[in-house]
Amino acid sequence: MPNGIENTNGQPIRATAAQALERMFAAAADDGLPFRITSGYRSFEKQESLFKGYSERDGVAAAETYSARPGHSEHQTGLAVDLDDGSGFAFKSEFGKTRTGLWLREHCAAYGFLLRYDQGEQPVVGYIYEPWHFRYLGTEITLDMRARGIANYEEYAGAEAAPDYVR
Ligand SMILES: [Zn+2]
Repeated sequence: MPNGIENTNGQPIRATAAQALERMFAAAADDGLPFRITSGYRSFEKQESLFKGYSERDGVAAAETYSARPGHSEHQTGLAVDLDDGSGFAFKSEFGKTRTGLWLREHCAAYGFLLRYDQGEQPVVGYIYEPWHFRYLGTEITLDMRARGIANYEEYAGAEAAPDYVR
């Protein structure tokens, strides 16, 4: 459990990612922009129930643009977090325009995090713009991606675009 960071759903993350997140939080708070955690690790069962709810509300095709099928969520790895600053834009694209969202975009790579589903990347990453979702990859990767101007992990890893599930 990351120490000293408000965690609205009380979800843990893996220790390495938690320590990196604590360092990022300290730097953000120093700049007057503390954030809180709205999601961390989610079990298969939790993802199953979330995805089922979204599918019933919006239909499967729409749900798949912003939520993963159970067994496919980065949150199940314990290496992904959703972040928010309490300004009313939790899980909304507008979060990317808040001072906190802009700070995270600029500084996340220095702490080993990647803004995983950036604007315009849906044809490759398969999800809509999610400025709140950060994946821990470690600075060796995130700083190299930044230096090379690579926006998505599929391209960096030499994987094919993943706009959809294999049918
Ligand atoms: Zn997320």
